[in-house]
Amino acid sequence: MIKKLVLSFPVDTTDRPLIYDLIRVHDVSINILKAEIQPGKTGSLLAEFEADEAKIEEAIAYLNDNGVMVNPVSSKVSYDKNRCINCGNCVSACFSRALTIAAPDWILNFDTERCIACKLCLKACPLKLFKIEFAEI
Ligand code: SF4
Ligand code: SF4
Repeated sequence: MIKKLVLSFPVDTTDRPLIYDLIRVHDVSINILKAEIQPGKTGSLLAEFEADEAKIEEAIAYLNDNGVMVNPVSSKVSYDKNRCINCGNCVSACFSRALTIAAPDWILNFDTERCIACKLCLKACPLKLFKIEFAEI
């Protein structure tokens, strides 16, 4: 499974190799989406953790034991409908079929309920109309 999490590091943890430990000791794959960390200051990290559920829970407990706050995050994808030229590139990329174009009007339709926030449409759109937002839950 993949969990999207925001990690808040207090000052005294930013110079410790906690993320390295998660990968090496807890066998969790980490995909860092955004990082604001400087040694000697508080830091925050937005990352996807990939492993089975038990390992992710172990990793979160390890971070908590080391003073790091961990909160789940939801992501929401949106696009600028007004600038869309209905080219269909994003439809081909969207395997969950959240994005569709069909007769008779051939206008892009976005079913947000089907969106799994995989971000493939962000790369597929030639006009870069998609954006992803994150919110703590
Ligand atoms: S983020 Fe993925 S699932 Fe959501 S609209 Fe884009 S391609 Fe489809
Ligand atoms: S790829 Fe971009 S311009 Fe083309 S249909 Fe999708 S959102 Fe519209």
